[in-house]
Amino acid sequence: MTDLRIGLGIDLHRLEPGRPCVLAGVLIDCERGPQAVSDGDVVLHAAVDAVLGAAGLDDLGTLFPENDPKNRGRDSAEFCARAMELVREKGLSVRSIDVVVETELPRLKPHRAAMRARLAQLFAVDPDRVNLKGKSAEGLDAIGNQLAIRATVVALLG
Ligand code: MG
Repeated sequence: MTDLRIGLGIDLHRLEPGRPCVLAGVLIDCERGPQAVSDGDVVLHAAVDAVLGAAGLDDLGTLFPENDPKNRGRDSAEFCARAMELVREKGLSVRSIDVVVETELPRLKPHRAAMRARLAQLFAVDPDRVNLKGKSAEGLDAIGNQLAIRATVVALLG
């Protein structure tokens, strides 16, 4: 039987007015964006943690500490590139990725195709094996009040 490994990643960021909104490596026009040391790409952070978790590797925060000045304003695509190097060193590849983004703002529907394509590129997987859904929080909690955004990602490696 093929040796398959599953990983889970979750990330949550505050949404702040005037911050750039980069999600899954796609710059989205929005009045708010995720607050963070890096570019705040909550989707890529969760995806990297899912991939690293499946490979049995250290997590994002251990590989790229927030207090390291090198990570200030950093493009999260670089985290993906490093994670993929480590995954390949273990003889693994990404087989599929499924993403749920809980957000009231921005709405993701117009950006889904671009986000899936970028995830596929960053994790070297067929776009057909990447999915991404946006879910509203129905006006409840910090997400529902447009104060936060959360991504949950499951990745299958083999
Ligand atoms: Mg993060």
